Amino acid sequence: MRRLTGAVLEKLRSGSRLTVFNPKRLPKMDLLHIPCNHCSAVNKLPVERIGAGARCGRCKQSLFDGKTGTLTAGNASALLGWTELPVVIDCWAAWCGPCKQFGPVFEQTARQFGTRARFLKLDTETEQQMARKFNIRSIPTLIVMRKGQEVARQSGAMSPGQFQAWLAPHLQGPASDTA
Ligand SMILES: [Zn+2]
Repeated sequence: MRRLTGAVLEKLRSGSRLTVFNPKRLPKMDLLHIPCNHCSAVNKLPVERIGAGARCGRCKQSLFDGKTGTLTAGNASALLGWTELPVVIDCWAAWCGPCKQFGPVFEQTARQFGTRARFLKLDTETEQQMARKFNIRSIPTLIVMRKGQEVARQSGAMSPGQFQAWLAPHLQGPASDTA
């Protein structure tokens, strides 16, 4: 083993003119974190693979099947905290008439915009701790989150047109955010 001379040590310390592997210098690929609604695995996908064909690396189920996922205390950190896509949450309960009325609107919108946002249902009866955390005072309540932060909230059932108009400003994908 060779001993490092003073000059080399100095270069190592200053980091100058030494060819070292620096992952930050690699061309940045646009990878998105897409949590699986079925098994909560957080998948990393290139932007161009966002769409119907993409499957979860762990459970092999579709990541973009156009269906809504179910938010629970157990999967909240995986489903809310990772993805660059907006997450839209429908806080509802089985006994609530307006929630039942709004349910199909939410499902339809998830089918239409399922590659531009994640659509999750939060049952405020079975997930009371989560409902308290979100400070839900009436249902249905719709919440949009980005990177784990709430960015919009609206209470009361909406028509498909009203819901999509309310949602539209939040549906810009990460690509347009960085433009
Ligand atoms: Zn999965």
